[in-house]
Amino acid sequence: IKINIAIDGHSSCGKSTIAKGLAKKIGYTYIDSGAMYRAVALYCLQNGLIKDGVVDEPALKSSIKTLIIEFRPNSMGGADTYMNNVNVENEIRSLEAASAASKVSTIKFVRQTMVYLQQQMGKNKGVVMDGRDIGTVVFPDAELKIFVTAKPEIRAERRYKELLNKGLDVDYDDVLANVIERDERDSNRTESPLRQAEDSVVLDNSDLTPDQQFEWAVSACKT
Ligand code: C5P
Repeated sequence: IKINIAIDGHSSCGKSTIAKGLAKKIGYTYIDSGAMYRAVALYCLQNGLIKDGVVDEPALKSSIKTLIIEFRPNSMGGADTYMNNVNVENEIRSLEAASAASKVSTIKFVRQTMVYLQQQMGKNKGVVMDGRDIGTVVFPDAELKIFVTAKPEIRAERRYKELLNKGLDVDYDDVLANVIERDERDSNRTESPLRQAEDSVVLDNSDLTPDQQFEWAVSACKT
């Protein structure tokens, strides 16, 4: 029988690497819930719905109903994020989109809309989903919940290298500031703040290699 696996934690702590690796190993579907908030954010940026850093909530509320966010398989065996039939996988990874995502994700109707879509994606089980509220809100009944964390400087360093590898021109201090800003907002928002589910297992990966984390996750799966 298949289960759902929830992987939550701070920004840039390697949740998606663990979740993807685990899903591949056990033949499950990986779903990146953060990509969905990033797609909503990108929509706002592209349509002028963020002015002076503030989201135009009434305008977003009327357009979110018509917004189509999907994942479609790509040629690398993974999935790309599509917004209204356009592949936005690269655009949603910018620091600007990340920052805007952390803003739109504080809005109640945005969360309700995303949570509903995510629950639909997991209704047949066999899903590994990563995010901030998967074990607490999206799949409170998930049979395995992992809470990942690491020191902010280490997370910023990893994200910095990842963005450089993608060819994005970034500055380490900006990445660190972005990580700290998002932690702060995720933990202090009223709507589903980032919390460790009581029945989760904690993985602090500050000093672990990707291989060690992967082994840890596979063994967590067996217990
Ligand atoms: O996981 P990722 O960093 O791509 O997510 C982008 C932003 O979306 C986060 O900073 C967070 O504010 C928000 N998010 C959320 N709930 C989730 C996933 C992401 O609030 N389940």
